[in-house]
Amino acid sequence: MSCDNPMRRSARTLTVLVPCWNEGDVLPTLFARLEALRCNETRPITYAFLFVDDGSKDSSQSLIREYVQTRPYAHYIFLSRNFGKEQAMFAGIEHVDTDGMVIIDADLQDPPERIGQMADLWMQGYEDVYARRRTRQGEHWFKTATSHAYYALLQAVSNVEIQKDTGDFRLLDRKCVQALQRLGESERNSKALFSWIGFRKIEFVYDRDERVAGRTKWSFGKLVRLALDGITSFTTMPLRAATWLGGVISLISIAYALVITVRTLTTGIDVPGYASTMVVVLMLGGMQLLSLGVLGEYIARIFNQTKGRPNYLIEEDDSEMRRAA
Ligand code: UDP
Ligand code: MG
Repeated sequence: MSCDNPMRRSARTLTVLVPCWNEGDVLPTLFARLEALRCNETRPITYAFLFVDDGSKDSSQSLIREYVQTRPYAHYIFLSRNFGKEQAMFAGIEHVDTDGMVIIDADLQDPPERIGQMADLWMQGYEDVYARRRTRQGEHWFKTATSHAYYALLQAVSNVEIQKDTGDFRLLDRKCVQALQRLGESERNSKALFSWIGFRKIEFVYDRDERVAGRTKWSFGKLVRLALDGITSFTTMPLRAATWLGGVISLISIAYALVITVRTLTTGIDVPGYASTMVVVLMLGGMQLLSLGVLGEYIARIFNQTKGRPNYLIEEDDSEMRRAA
């Protein structure tokens, strides 16, 4: 379908970036909705679509290839394996060269129809239009509750402002995209990075839909890892907390040692005390292991970063296909 009109030539260009992993069931619907978005757009906006396939094993890659083949405004990047959504998004961000970019999930939980309204705010001069979820359809109460608790914790320990109930669905101006391109850290948590870069932000409220088809790609383990990445990339507070904890416990120990010494000198040796000794030993052991664990979390990230491996590897992109055609 062609819907080019000459007025659009002078328009702003906006890339819709879609990370996909095994989304073969939803891609046809996604393509249709993106096409509709492009064709029904009355604002001076020229759309480009960029699909980053994160090592899908289903029909996703062939569907994307087929869709992109006949559409010069659509592009794709296939990663060499599943690197995770964070890296897939980064691969896309590094390849965007339009005036702006919107990130949406392939499963259509973020309705593409709202992009136009986000673009209105962008054209008013905002550089980061982030979509805040008013409701979340089809998500378990436990996920919503833990996600709220996590963001409250993140805000408490970090010194940049964190946007609540916000995912990766947002429109970023070229300035933000260029800023993100400079942040090549290996342990990525986009939420942390979006907050960290600053720029003129504005909220946009929407209702998060249910997944159109397929299942969520996030396991509990992956979510825990992402949460840890969030905390460690935002703040070194846990390291300081370990130091404070150590300090407080040392003070208590000194005070207790004095009490025991005075008691031994005044009332003689008091042998019973198995329970209290065990409590102290176990508590100190636990605290030490916890502090070591916190140290380990940071050291593991330093280790990964110092290896300096690329964040993702590309197996194929549409430029090869276009050359071959
Ligand atoms: N995704 C990805 N790589 C992954 C996991 C997810 O590219 O390793 C993509 C997925 O295809 C989808 C988006 O990230 O477009 C969000 O994933 P999902 O819908 O499973 O997450 P949820 O909405 O349940 O948080
Ligand atoms: Mg989803």
